[in-house]
Amino acid sequence: MTEKLYLRDADLRSFDAAVVAVDGQRVVIWTTGAAQVLDVTADGDRVLHALAGPVPEVGTTVTGEVDDERRRHMMRTHTAMHILCGVIWRNWLRVVTGGNMDALSGRMDFEFAELPVDFAADLEERCNVEIAADREVRVSFLDRGEAVLDRDLIRTKVNLIPDHVTEIRLVDIVGLDRQADGGTHVSSTGQVGRLEVTKTESKGKGFKRVRFVLHDG
Ligand SMILES: [Zn+2]
Repeated sequence: MTEKLYLRDADLRSFDAAVVAVDGQRVVIWTTGAAQVLDVTADGDRVLHALAGPVPEVGTTVTGEVDDERRRHMMRTHTAMHILCGVIWRNWLRVVTGGNMDALSGRMDFEFAELPVDFAADLEERCNVEIAADREVRVSFLDRGEAVLDRDLIRTKVNLIPDHVTEIRLVDIVGLDRQADGGTHVSSTGQVGRLEVTKTESKGKGFKRVRFVLHDG
């Protein structure tokens, strides 16, 4: 099983590891290598790193370096998605049904029959208020048995997490949004930067899409 170091330290950018398995261009490392990592995929509990260059042999000790700029951008974007979720739930009682993200941009789908008047501007302003409030983003771990009883977590469908996962990782934007999540986030909302809602789209009844970008500062 690959130890996912980012789950406990989103700011970690360098680590030593050993290659434990090789599958074509993909390697499994024990806790990523001097070769450029092109893609990372999960295979059960193992994390496979697809490499651009020569693949090291099993047993080789490698040092992983995370691309700090890209990681920070993804952390800001992931946190922004939680802010959108939290604000839309608190103000409109709508749940998120899907989403996708890239560095400093993303989209999320919500269960609206119709979008309220001036929704995009209203949503953008409310999100930026939460960013300006610089709310703490807290990561913790909870037993599955407790997590499935938690109202916030029921709403975000913690019960859909596979049964073999006994410890649930929580990401809590204190006072705004709390959910089970395996991603990396900034430690306070102020680090997200200014959020701009660039587009809202209707994808059908009960299916509305929000697109956003993040700006520095
Ligand atoms: Zn997240």
